[in-house]
Parts: sequence; structure tokens; C-alpha cells
Amino acid sequence: MALIVQKFGGTSVANTEKILSAARRAIREVKNGNQVVMVVSAMGKSTDHLIELAREISDRPNSREMDMLLSTGEQVTVALMAIALESLGHKAISFTAAQIGIKTDNSFNKARIRSISTERMRDALKEGKIVIAAGFQGIDDDFNITTLGRGGSDTTAVALAAALRADVCDIFTDVDGVYTTDPRIVPEARRVSCISYDEMLELASMGAGVMHSRSIEFAKKFGVPVHVRSSFSDNPGTVIGPDPESRDVPVCGAALAKNEARITVVEVPDEPGVAMNLFSRIAEAKIPTDMIAQNASTKGRTDISFTVPGEDFVVAQDIVKKVAGELGASGVEYNENVSKVSIVGLGMVHQTGVARKMFHALSEHGINIEMITTSDIKISALVERNDAIQALRAVHEAFELDRDPASRTNIYNSPNQKSAKAEDNSEEEDKEQVSAELVSRLAGMEEILIEKVDLDQSQARFTFANVPDEPGLAAAVFDKIAQANIVVDMIVQSVGRNNLANISFTVPRDELDAVNKLAKDVASTWKCDILQNPMVAKLSVRGTGLRSHTGLASRMFRTLSSNSINVSIICTSERCVSVIVNDEAGEKSFSLSVSEFAEEML
Ligand code: ASP
Ligand code: MG
Repeated sequence: MALIVQKFGGTSVANTEKILSAARRAIREVKNGNQVVMVVSAMGKSTDHLIELAREISDRPNSREMDMLLSTGEQVTVALMAIALESLGHKAISFTAAQIGIKTDNSFNKARIRSISTERMRDALKEGKIVIAAGFQGIDDDFNITTLGRGGSDTTAVALAAALRADVCDIFTDVDGVYTTDPRIVPEARRVSCISYDEMLELASMGAGVMHSRSIEFAKKFGVPVHVRSSFSDNPGTVIGPDPESRDVPVCGAALAKNEARITVVEVPDEPGVAMNLFSRIAEAKIPTDMIAQNASTKGRTDISFTVPGEDFVVAQDIVKKVAGELGASGVEYNENVSKVSIVGLGMVHQTGVARKMFHALSEHGINIEMITTSDIKISALVERNDAIQALRAVHEAFELDRDPASRTNIYNSPNQKSAKAEDNSEEEDKEQVSAELVSRLAGMEEILIEKVDLDQSQARFTFANVPDEPGLAAAVFDKIAQANIVVDMIVQSVGRNNLANISFTVPRDELDAVNKLAKDVASTWKCDILQNPMVAKLSVRGTGLRSHTGLASRMFRTLSSNSINVSIICTSERCVSVIVNDEAGEKSFSLSVSEFAEEML
């Protein structure tokens, strides 16, 4: 007998007919001999309607009362679902979050789950009932109703699956799985059969957004297999779990985060503490920073660029204006109309030419890249919002994402470059079956979890400084490098003043001579300066919950700066923060970070 959590989103319970059909699905599983816990969202667009009602009365409704209001949507659905199940002759019981002890902190509108008590659900299951839990809501220590943020029912479902040690968490939705990109924008997009937690995390918070990204963090932490599937058919969907289909191709999907805003703090002194000050102020306001790029300095000064969600721009701008002066920056620049295009895939760790292919696809369409950041399994480029859709299409096509992975043309694959990092990754995949003990160890179920702090002292860093920021630059640089079969690791491009960009990347130290030759060519074509540091240390912190815990990057920067360690390059993604420091500071940075994050380490 298996225990299955089935989550039905708003569109899957939009009317009573759909509620009945969801109920039939649950009953079918019970007839197969399984126990079922259903988690449901509010019907159709009812959460939106509730928000509109509040807005008709006030521009700034009290956040506690908003949660009180919004939680009612799910309460309607649980009750109707129980009535539906009983009308179909099955025993059922509905619960609000308070009734099953889904405890959260008290940050209204974006509360985090702290604990779940499973007793009452288990008792009901033992009595042969189907349990129906209200998604999206929780209760704080003072019995206030809280909500987990829009789309939060996914997180409720995966959290219940984790707490109950369910065998699988089925997410029934209006799409039949996770696609290589948003099929509404790129109709050729293809359904992915299996995707890893990490790939999904890198894709999730950016509009491939089939699922709430915190739910994937949960799933990964607790090793819950998640099956995303259509509530209107029996077709297999996408399994998010440890065995992805992307093993042998560089890229599993492409994503677009359309409404981003970019802020650049221009010419800050390149000294310890600057990044810490900036990002801790932003984290205090609970604004998630996404792409962070700090480049190598010229004349002791550097630019720090980062993106925030469009809706947080105004507040972030105010903060940065204040902080910039204190930091001694020469100015602040913005672009409110940018979008982020990313490619993600476990396979890119050991293949050359991946970055090149992406930048080429963009430059062939005349699209300028404003900013670049990378993680081990992701490359993101920031473009003007007007170019966003074309950029996504171009990238999707370049990597043949419309085709079955087995039938894609191989790109510059260089087996001799299959570095230790690739093996490392598969080991990590095994670890994803996190032991059940973890459930009891984690007092707060949504705490940040650090998987690994890594120190890599095998790389050299190159920077092209003051390059004219125009289409084709990145493509030209990485063309040459790919032709020489060199694996590029970290790539950071940031915009400075007067549309001059700095582009930095790291390569293995033993490729130093080769890259030096190439760099001279590039520099003479683009009339830019080359800076290099043949001995750098790359420190990275990888984990889950990084993006949703706004303070991680600043904690890392604080730890380093309070020990007078200067960070020369910063680069972030959804699940990884990497910095470049001087080689001599490498080991110290590593041990400092390990002790800083000791409590959060797996
Ligand atoms: N009803 C909530 C929302 O619309 C939660 C959810 O659907 O996941 O955001
Ligand atoms: Mg939803």
C-alpha cells in the first residue's frame, strides 16, 4: 500500500464538475489499495478575486487581514471536495492548516512552514478516510492565519508528502508536465519526461514556473519524488527526481523571467565589506536579489550589478540610492525593462561550447546582452525586455530543445574534458535521496540547507575590461574559446558606465597560455584591456533555499569581509553563490564559510 499525496491546483478544481472529477481520481487510487491525502487550491481565479475585493477598499490592506481573507479560498475547496467524495460513496475529511498543525513563522503573505504534525491525518487515514488538506495556508504561534505566498499550495503538498513520508507527490495541473520552455511562447517546446531537482530549481522561479520553487526545495531536501501531470488526462507527465533525461545533453530547458529590473552601483571601491553592506540592506527589506555580478576591478574600483523582480524595483532603488553614497560609489544606474533568459542542464558541466552556442544564438538575432551570470548548471543572460521573446526562441532552437535528447546533434563534446566535477555531480544525485532522519533534524522545515561549500584552486581568471557593450561580444569571446576546446567555468558580464562592459570568466590554469593567445586577438578586435589573474580561488556555496532566503549572499560577504578578505568577482544563481578571491585567501575563505554555514549543512 502506497501513500500518495495528490495536489489539485486552481484550474483543476475550478468548478463543481472538476471537483467531482478530482474526487474520482483520488477514489481510483484508493481502489488500487493506496492511501490518499489531497491538497487543494482555491477554485479557479478565486484568490485573484479576493485580492481585487480588498484592493477596491484599500491600496494597502493589512497583511494579516489579507491572509485571513485569502485563506478562505482553499477552505471552500476542501469542504466541497469532502462533500464530493462522500457523494461518491467514499469516506473523507477536510482540514484547514490549523487543524493539522501546519505551523509557520509570522511573515504574513510569505510565511514559511516550520513544522507539521501528522497525527491527525494518520488517524483519519487509518479510519479509511481520504484526507483533504487546504493548501497555501498555515498558522503562526499566536494562531494567526498565514499564507505561503502565491502558488503556495504546491509547497503545502510537497511538505505534507515529506512529513508523511509519502511515496509520491502528484501535482495535478492544467499542463501535462514540465516543458523545455514555456509552450505559450515557444510552441515547439517539448515535454521533459524526467528532470532533476537541481535543474528544476534553476528553472522554477523564472516562468518555466510550473511549480512554486519553494516546493522543489522541499522535495529535494526530503527526497520526495514529484510527478507533475495533467488533471484532464491519464498521460504520464514529468517526474522531478534523481534520474533526469539530460544526462548526455548539455541543456534540458530554457527559461525566461520577463519582468526583471537591473540596478548597477557604479565604481564602488573594491574593498572588503562593500558587497556585504549593499546586499544586507536589500535582504533586510526581504527583496530577493537574483543575478548578482561583480566584476574584476579596474583602478581599484568595480561595478556591482544585480537584478530584482520588477515589482520590487521601486523599493530596491530607494535603498540603493541611500547605500551608494555611503559606499563611495560614483553613481547608480538602472534598467527597469529587462528580462532574463537562461539555459539549464546538468550536462553543461563537462561540455565545451555551451556558452558559445547560447551567445551566438542571441547575437545572430542582433540581441545585446546586458549582463551574464552562471552557475555550474546554468547560464543566464539579461536582455532588453523587447528582445526577450525572440531571445528565448533563439536559444531554444539553438539547443534543439524541441527534439528528443537522443536525437539532438552533439555540440562540441569533449570527453577528455569530463572533469572531476561531472562525477561529483552524479554522486550528488545519489545524495538527493535524503534520509528520513532529516525530517526530524530540521526544526524549521523550510530552513535554508547548504549542500556543499566548495573551494576550487585550479582556475585562472580573465577579464576583458571596457568593452563596447554591443551584440556579438560574448559570442566572439566564447567562439574562440570553444574552438580551442577549453571548458569555461564561471562567466560574469556586467555593465558599467557609458555602455562599456566588463566580461570575466574562469578557465583551468593549465589552459592559461592558450587563452592568453586568444585573448590578444579578442582585445585587438574589440579594443579593450585584458586583465588576468592566473591564480584565483573560487569559493562556492551550493544549496537549496538560497534564492528564497534573501540573506545568504550577504552572510557570505559579511563573513569574508569581517576577515578582510576581498571578493573580486561575484556570480549567483538560484542554488549557488560563487565568488572569486585571491588564491592565498582561498583556504581561509573556505574554512570561514564552512563554519559560518555549519548549522545549515546537510
Ligand atoms: N490559491 C493560491 C494562489 O492562487 C495558492 C495556490 O493556488 O497555490 O496563489
Ligand atoms: Mg498554482
